[in-house]
Amino acid sequence: ILALDNVSKSFGALKVADQVSFALEKGEALGVIGPNGAGKSTLFNLITGNLGVDGGTVTFDGADVTRQPPMVRCLAGIGRTFQIPQPFEKLTVFENLLVAAAFGSSRTEKDVSDRCADILVETGLIARANQTAGSLGLLQRKRLELARALATQPKVLLLDEIAGGLTEGECQELVDTIRSIHAAGVSIVWVEHILHALTSVVGRLLVLDFGKVIAMGKPDDIMASKSVRQIYLGIEV
Ligand code: ATP
Ligand code: MG
Repeated sequence: ILALDNVSKSFGALKVADQVSFALEKGEALGVIGPNGAGKSTLFNLITGNLGVDGGTVTFDGADVTRQPPMVRCLAGIGRTFQIPQPFEKLTVFENLLVAAAFGSSRTEKDVSDRCADILVETGLIARANQTAGSLGLLQRKRLELARALATQPKVLLLDEIAGGLTEGECQELVDTIRSIHAAGVSIVWVEHILHALTSVVGRLLVLDFGKVIAMGKPDDIMASKSVRQIYLGIEV
């Protein structure tokens, strides 16, 4: 459903995407790991169009979207969360969803509000619907970030360290939610440092280092690889 072919991007002399190629199958969940600064968030920005590529192509759902602006890609079904959530702090959880849903393809006001109500249930936020975003704790903020992405009706959902900073129990709760979103048919690319959370959902891992794909495959094979272990030496996995 999503394919990158030789995608490259530099910031000055710094190569943050170096001939990146991979394909995500429809319905697949793919994990992305790599050290801080490896280019993971940048990769998402290149997929969504928040950043333009220097070279290469991004194909989504059979169409070349490389030159399309973020709005068009979002409408086509590329949804994302941001590493640092920035909801409208003074709006309620439900209002934040309504705003996000405007970027989806729902037609009528009722469609939009029905969909947002469903997402509140799906993401465990129903009891918080009328609370302002600014008053939420970290887990609920993460849930809201996930809910805002879902409100855009993604076919592919890009998750950027959505479980970071949570307690073990909170992480598990969020993983369960992500698993059910995946089970409902949404394809997922998930950047995360918490390996056990990642591997409980994804079937394949992609390893990024200095903007390069250095390995891609089944989690067990990836973690058995010497070069991957070297990169992760000293980093908690
Ligand atoms: P982390 O795990 O810390 O989130 P990451 O893999 O997501 O890291 P990126 O945020 O993609 O890393 O950043 C890759 C590199 O590009 C970093 O060295 C970062 O400082 C640099 N970088 C990111 N955005 C810009 C920008 N707009 N201009 C210049 N350099 C940037
Ligand atoms: Mg990042």
